[in-house]
Formats: sequence, C-alpha cells, structure tokens
Amino acid sequence: MTGCSQTKARVGVFHTPHGAVETPRFMPVGTLANVKTLTPAQLRDTGAQMILSNTYHLHLQPGEGIVAGGGGLHKFMGWDGPILTDSGGFQVFSLSEMRKISERGVKFRSPHDGQIIELTPERSIEIQNTLGADIIMAFDECPPYPVSREEVETATERTYRWLLRCIETHKRPEQALFGIVQGGIYSDLRSRAANALTELDLPGYAIGGVSVGEEPELIHEIVRVTAPLLPVNKPRYLMGVGTYREIAIAIAAGIDLFDCVIPTRWARHGTAMVRGERWNLKNARFREDFQPLDADCPCYTCKNFTRAYISHLVRSQEILAYTLLSIHNITEIIHFTQKIRQSILQGSFATDFARWLNTDNSVELEHG
Ligand SMILES: [Zn+2]
Repeated sequence: MTGCSQTKARVGVFHTPHGAVETPRFMPVGTLANVKTLTPAQLRDTGAQMILSNTYHLHLQPGEGIVAGGGGLHKFMGWDGPILTDSGGFQVFSLSEMRKISERGVKFRSPHDGQIIELTPERSIEIQNTLGADIIMAFDECPPYPVSREEVETATERTYRWLLRCIETHKRPEQALFGIVQGGIYSDLRSRAANALTELDLPGYAIGGVSVGEEPELIHEIVRVTAPLLPVNKPRYLMGVGTYREIAIAIAAGIDLFDCVIPTRWARHGTAMVRGERWNLKNARFREDFQPLDADCPCYTCKNFTRAYISHLVRSQEILAYTLLSIHNITEIIHFTQKIRQSILQGSFATDFARWLNTDNSVELEHG
C-alpha cells in the first residue's frame, strides 16, 4: 500500500480468485449479469478489472439456481475477471414497493409477478454464495434521505446485527464478504459503525447509504469522516458514486473502489463523458465534426469513429451508438482512476488533480 503525502489517497492491489484489482479503480455495473450493450471482450478492452452485478435483480430474473446451473456467475456471463455482487439491500429499499422491514428481514412485492418475496441476511448470503462472485456484500438496511436521526440510528444498529448473521451464514471462504458502514449523514453514527465493523476483521469494507439524494458536500463529509476509520490494509469501497469530482475527492479521503451506473446510463442517453465534460451527441455542433470524441483516448470508439458518425447513430437511435458510447464512457472513467493511481505513485496527485479537489473546501488536504 503506497500513500499520497498530501492527501489520504492510497494505491493498492486486491487479489481475488479471478485476478487482481489495482486500486483506486472504477467498477462498471453489470446489473443483470451483463454490462448493457457490451460483450465481455469489449468490456475487457475498456480496462475493466472487477465488475459489479446485482443480487436483487438476478434473484428475480433468471434466479440464482439457473446461474448456478450455468456454472456460476463468471461462466454464465462469460466474464473470467473478478466480480462483486451487492446484497440486494439497496435495491429492496430503493426500488420495491410495499416493503415491510422487521428484525428478521424485508418482505416486498416482486415487480415481476407481484409475489411477496422475503429477503433476509441469511437469504441474501445464500443467494450470493450460489451466484459465486469474488466479493459479496453484507445485507444492510439503507435508509432513505432525508429521514429522522432515530430512524437512521435504528437502521444502522440493525445493519450491524444483520452483518453478524451474514457472517454466520457465509459458507464459501474464497468469496470475500465485505461489511457496509451505514449511518446516514450523522458522523457520530458513521464513526460508531465503522469502529464496530473494523473489530470484525472482514476482508473489506464499504461505505453505503450515500448518493441517495443528499447534497454532494454531505457525501464528501461522510466519506472524509468514515474512510480513515476503516482498516488501512483492507479495501474501501464507496458504493454508488462515480462522477469525476466525487471519485477524486473520495480517493483523496482514502477510498479505493467505486461503482456507478452513470457512464453506461448516460451512454444509452446519447451522452459522452469527455475530459470532465458531458456532451449530448444530438447537439447540432457534432453533426459535421469529424474528430474523435477525444483524440487522446485509447478506446476502440475514439480510435475508429468520429463525433459526426456517433451523432448520426444517436439521432437514428442505432444500437451501435450505445455500444460505442458505453465503450468510451467506461474507458474514460476507468482511465480517470488509473491516472489518479499513477499520480499517487508519482507523488503528484494533489497537484495533478487540483482541478477536482480544490473546488470543495470540505476536504482538508494535509500539507506535509
Ligand atoms: Zn474514447
């Protein structure tokens, strides 16, 4: 683990049964055992190492039994690199209707067929053991924002009790079980949760319950308070955060792993991420622009196609548009984390990325 002298940024390598993950790193999201519009070979070429898939969605469709029947998640989806599955907690709390939370778990109505489904810590871990990802996540209660402090405290304490049940249920030691720090926007609740989780000596830790509608400055503050309390020698994963500024600021606070649907979702809306900007390819200025999206980008899209061509595809709603933009956007954001990694190693992170770091005063840079 190499650290930055001016911030809490660090560089590391996390080993999994399907290969190493160099951190800091962005993880593309493949909700339903695919990163939308990309083949695994195209995904590999973006620089992706670990990808994320979704327990809640895979449980509903096709069901973990079918994934296991197909040889487990890696073989089923044709991705031989590391995979992380989330626990389903976030989706149950954010997507499902008619949910009922108890100490036992959560009951909710399936959006597929209206059936009542129960997800408990035990059930989430059993499903994740069956899916077979390299990293699995504890089942947590993710309170919405805004919500009362009492409710957040109740959810945070329940999340800890659920974590103990997850650890008890977990049967496949080759899968690394990460705990999730909850605590909403309350730094004392976050600190208490982080300290309690650290005692359990898990292989990795996540900060959850952020990016649920609160102001970016609040996210920065939560991360700045929580990340340094987590063990130095274990990976730290900030769930659901993935824009340039949020990534840079979180890395400066000591975060290693990120995931976010934004690069692929924007691609499907005809939007390219270029050097920190967001371009709508439907814009008239691209119609006769025969340059690549970014002449310095190493991706397949930028090496072979022009803005004019992609603009044409987007206007025509051709599926290739979404593939080309997904390739570019994922490459762009992974390269952003790779460039940060390089600059930390060279000792120039705080200077090279000042554009992203200095726009927010809530992050203290320790000048040493
Ligand atoms: Zn590109």
